[in-house]
Amino acid sequence: MTVVVALDGPAGSGKSSVSKAAARVLGFAYLDTGAAYRALAWRCLEEGIDTHGPADVIESLPSFEFEIGTDPDGYVVRVGSEDVTADIREPRISATVSAIARIPEVRQYLVDLFRSIISGTERPGIVVEGRDITTVVAPDADVRILLTAAEEVRMARRSAELSGVSAETTARELSSRDAKDSQVVDFMNAADGVTTIDSTDLDFEATVASVVAL
Ligand code: C5P
Repeated sequence: MTVVVALDGPAGSGKSSVSKAAARVLGFAYLDTGAAYRALAWRCLEEGIDTHGPADVIESLPSFEFEIGTDPDGYVVRVGSEDVTADIREPRISATVSAIARIPEVRQYLVDLFRSIISGTERPGIVVEGRDITTVVAPDADVRILLTAAEEVRMARRSAELSGVSAETTARELSSRDAKDSQVVDFMNAADGVTTIDSTDLDFEATVASVVAL
């Protein structure tokens, strides 16, 4: 039986790096669901698909060929044969992705895909992170976590990650994205049975250790 660890949290909560590190410690696979939404946004921008016209995005889904790595040590995201691992982190993608993620057909398509990746895991477990993992993708997960941190701490951490982008721009981007995303799924409050880890006063190692302990 595969152990499923579901982890949700807002932008800049550190969920990607924490989930990846916890998966490494546990010998588990790792699935970054946000990367799939980002890869779809990347493809829409590349191909000039209107991201505000749901019909065009929905129509493009059957031909969306992408690959998302689940090895925490060899993580790679591809669209077709192109490696987009770095490109999907660009500000133009962060600015577009929420419009795509609010389309119900896109969510259903990706939720089905995430479930098939989870059930096909060959490792003893998988850490899956995103916004709706504890509530929609894997509500029956063995461990369900909401990772939070005070807004100013999240902004400072994200700002440190993005060189060349001002702290002010980062703050604006994060809060606007969280506001849009939380109209679609509630990832600011823990659902029933979900354990909250507040990393405001925890360093990275302590946060990973809290996840591993659970
Ligand atoms: O996690 P990350 O910030 O990379 O996610 C990018 C975007 O993908 C989010 O801002 C959100 O719009 C969308 N997303 C989602 N549901 C998930 C994961 C990500 O709607 N489970």
